Amino acid sequence: MTVPHPPLSKSRFTAGWQCPKLLWWKVHEPQAPELQPDIVLQDRFDQGRQVGELARARFPGGVLIDLPHDAAQARVAATREALDGGAPCVFEGTFVADSVLVATDVLVVEPDGVRLIEVKSASHQKDDHVVDAAIQVHVLRRSGLEVTAAEIMHLNPEFRHPDTGDLFARTDVTTPVDRLLGEIPAAIERQVAALAGPLPEVTIGLHCHEPRACPFLERCWPPDRDHISRLYRVGPKRSCAYMQTGVHRIGDLPPTAKLSPPARRQIRAMQEDRLIVEPTLAAALEPFDCRLGFLDFETINRAVPVWPGMRPWGQAAAQFSYHELTEDGSCTHAEFLAEGPEDARPPLARAMVEATAGAERVVTYTGFEKGRIRALQEAVPELRPELEALEAKLLDLHPVVRDHVYHPDFRGSFSLKYILTPLVPELTYDDLIIVDGLRASVEIARLLFVAGKIRPADRDRTRRDLLDYCERDTWAMVKLLERLRELATAA
Ligand code: SF4
Repeated sequence: MTVPHPPLSKSRFTAGWQCPKLLWWKVHEPQAPELQPDIVLQDRFDQGRQVGELARARFPGGVLIDLPHDAAQARVAATREALDGGAPCVFEGTFVADSVLVATDVLVVEPDGVRLIEVKSASHQKDDHVVDAAIQVHVLRRSGLEVTAAEIMHLNPEFRHPDTGDLFARTDVTTPVDRLLGEIPAAIERQVAALAGPLPEVTIGLHCHEPRACPFLERCWPPDRDHISRLYRVGPKRSCAYMQTGVHRIGDLPPTAKLSPPARRQIRAMQEDRLIVEPTLAAALEPFDCRLGFLDFETINRAVPVWPGMRPWGQAAAQFSYHELTEDGSCTHAEFLAEGPEDARPPLARAMVEATAGAERVVTYTGFEKGRIRALQEAVPELRPELEALEAKLLDLHPVVRDHVYHPDFRGSFSLKYILTPLVPELTYDDLIIVDGLRASVEIARLLFVAGKIRPADRDRTRRDLLDYCERDTWAMVKLLERLRELATAA
């Protein structure tokens, strides 16, 4: 078991701040499958890099320390040289002190010292950014620099593409960083000691979810479907509070616990180990007795907005699938997938308005589609009346399931992916390449904005995979409604 030298970096320190076991695995098991970025995480990194490059452009004359990241000593020397040579600003300046290596995003040289600027692709400053800045300020000071201020430079939620407002905002964190600095030396000592020993024993708790979900949740948390964390809508805070009072299983909950009706139905389904169907299901399905369509969107979600009026990290529909049930019981299908970097919302909205015109009601699963249709009313004002009419036709199947049905295998969730197998076992996503919305979003963005870097054959295959995935989502709603009607009849 070898510990790298220096043992800590900015990201390792923040991981160790969250949990020493997470730090230990990061350092001693860097090839762990949980740590290998999937396409979604890689996209996050790429977007972070794009934001970093745009941020640097705000500091003319800055010197980039452009050396390999494993050449720590050369980077430290080059940083010192840039500062001594009078650079007004240094990017990726590298420093090592007290067993910690940090590469600072932006250092602005001021008359009395340096101003540290940490660039984040988030749209506001978050609490954990302070830890990130504090370890850097500590190392800078231990390296002999006077740090005059610390700032987080993040995306500005008020910015609108293409040029309304400033893409970046800056939040001064000097005071909270100063408050934290006293804790840093002991934290470094603890982390270095933890790395030199065996895997630390750490009890699971809220730190597994905050400030960000730990990649090792599946290693540490029990997989049991009756674990308290799988109670409907319990969330990390309440499940950890329950665990602290000795309630680890859903069955341990006292009868006096304040629970929502779906959570009560979940408990009953688990106790009786069977599917529960409320007798009120038939009445809840009555609004669905008409000519129905089924609509599902996939969206793009970019840090740096790409289409007019969009904010940083704004979501925009870029694909839809639509099934419509005809009077003879058969189904028609329409679909749209954006092509090229131009604003896809006008052609998408036109195709959707046309496809859905004949349906009396349009079924969705959750209110997500409603939110996107409202956003389209802003983005495509010439179709506002038609889009408002479509919004008025929407019918959400999610509350029907949530308020009337529970199967023990839902595992506390009513998301379509969780309920489909227990309710419609013959329909799966197993044969598909793309099986979740996050991956779909990244693949669409790749197709639209970096298509030149993708081979034509891959591009065609990815388009097919996306179309198959979105179509399966609306088909799943068709089959789900069929199944709910059967259950209502039998109840
Ligand atoms: S799941 Fe929790 S206990 Fe396990 S490594 Fe992650 S943060 Fe630590």
